[in-house]
Amino acid sequence: MNQEISDILISTEEIQAINKRLGEEISKDYQDQDLLVVGILKGSFLFMADLIREINVPLEVDFMAVSSYGDGTESGGDVKILKDLEASVAGRHVLLVEDIVDTGYTLERLGELFKERQAASVKICAFLNKADRRQVKVEADYLGKEIPDAFVVGYGMDYAQKYRNLPYVGVLKSDQA
Ligand code: 5GP
Ligand code: MG
Ligand code: MG
Repeated sequence: MNQEISDILISTEEIQAINKRLGEEISKDYQDQDLLVVGILKGSFLFMADLIREINVPLEVDFMAVSSYGDGTESGGDVKILKDLEASVAGRHVLLVEDIVDTGYTLERLGELFKERQAASVKICAFLNKADRRQVKVEADYLGKEIPDAFVVGYGMDYAQKYRNLPYVGVLKSDQA
C-alpha cells in the first residue's frame, strides 16, 4: 500500500466486481439504442476504460473536461467547460460517466446542457456517491458504491493531481491532505 494512504476503501477486486455488475445493468438497458458514453475527465478515465469493456452493446465514447470548482475546494453552481465533446448528441442516448457525485452541481449542470443539446436521453453512471454531501437533487442511474463523507483518491481520482494511478480507492493520511 502507498505510504500516504491510511485506508483502502475499495480494493482492486471490488472495483472489478462493481464494473462487471454495472456493465450488465447498462447492457440490459441499452439494447438496440444509439449509445454515446461520455467520460468526464480527468477523474473518470480509468473507470470509463474498465466499464465499457463490461458493456456488450454497441457504443461510442467521447470525453468532456469540466471544472466545477470556484474559489474553495468545493463545487459551486458554476461549471466551466474546459474541453467539449467532438460528437453531436442530438437524438442520441447519452450515458455520463463520473468518478464521484459529491455536491451534485457538476452533473446537474451537465444534465441541463445535454437536454439543451437535445439528447434523446441522459443518464448518469457514477462510480462513487457521497449522498451526505449533496446540495442539489441529482441521482446516479447506475451507481458503483455509496461512500461516507471522506476525501478519496486513486483509481483515477486525485489530490492535487497525484494518486490517480493507484489501482484501488483509498483515503489519504490526514497530514497529506
Ligand atoms: P460535485 O461536487 O460537483 O458533485 O463533484 C465534482 C467533482 O469533485 C467530482 O466529479 C470529483 O471529480 C470531485 N470530487 C468530489 N469528491 C471527491 C473526492 O472525495 N476525491 C476526489 N479526488 N475528487 C472528488
Ligand atoms: Mg469528476
Ligand atoms: Mg479533481
